[in-house]
Amino acid sequence: NYPELKGKVAVITGSSKGLGRAIAERYAKEGVHVVLNYRSSEDEMNKVIQGIEAAGGKAVAVKGDVAEEDLAEKMIETAVSEFGKMDIFVNNAGVQVEAKTHEMELDNWKKIIDTNLTGTFLGVRAALKYFVDHEIQGNIINMSSVHEVIPRSGYTHYAASKGGVKMFTKSVALEYAPNKIRVNGIAPGAIDTPINEETMQDPEEKKGLEALIPTHEIGRPEQIAAVAAWLASDESSYVTGATIFADGGLSLYPSFGPENK
Ligand code: NAD
Repeated sequence: NYPELKGKVAVITGSSKGLGRAIAERYAKEGVHVVLNYRSSEDEMNKVIQGIEAAGGKAVAVKGDVAEEDLAEKMIETAVSEFGKMDIFVNNAGVQVEAKTHEMELDNWKKIIDTNLTGTFLGVRAALKYFVDHEIQGNIINMSSVHEVIPRSGYTHYAASKGGVKMFTKSVALEYAPNKIRVNGIAPGAIDTPINEETMQDPEEKKGLEALIPTHEIGRPEQIAAVAAWLASDESSYVTGATIFADGGLSLYPSFGPENK
């Protein structure tokens, strides 16, 4: 636990399920008041809020798409009106849709780039503006992926978006280091969330994925939320512009591992 997080206020995009939800629940456990976001699943969102409130936490939600220009600003306004301020902004929302590149529809490409990369830019821009205007030494966390370094066949737009998130995160961290605003990324490997539902439900595919991961374990959302808590805490106070990989070794060139001699 990180006692200094108590009473802080965090905005987390795409938080009705998966990693965003896990981060929201972990932050709430730390005493952070959370402003959440969903696109359409209001029932799911309400259940997350009820769970947080039942555990003694405080949470509100804002409906909207991260690719819309004003969502991040609306979320920050809600943080200020409900909880008086904003300290931590987590750009988590992300999507993937498989397609061969030579057959990829422009709409598919745009959806991935608009959500994963432009959505992150809009969140970062709004958070920076708030932190700079109020001279707050705030904290920004961008959800990347191991695919910011590992190429991915069938998902070239996804890999391009996360590669973009990587360099954007580092460049913003550099630009705002004098303001003491920390900007970091998290690169999960394969985590058991709804985004991987098909793989998790197919025993053969699941086995194949486990075999690919050096520790042979698919990650749990709580393991990513733990990184998000550490990055928001003072324990990581000298860390900025970093991407923390939480991937069971997936980014370590597994084919050179001890089982492949
Ligand atoms: P998920 O599909 O379970 O959840 C994603 C959340 O984002 C959902 O709540 C969804 O509604 C929301 N979302 C999607 N598009 C949105 C938009 N345009 N506006 C607002 N909300 C939107 O996926 P997840 O596994 O929780 O993924 C979260 C993040 O982690 C993504 O950025 C993803 O790329 C990244 N990631 C996940 C994994 C994994 O294995 N699960 C691995 C690496 C990176």
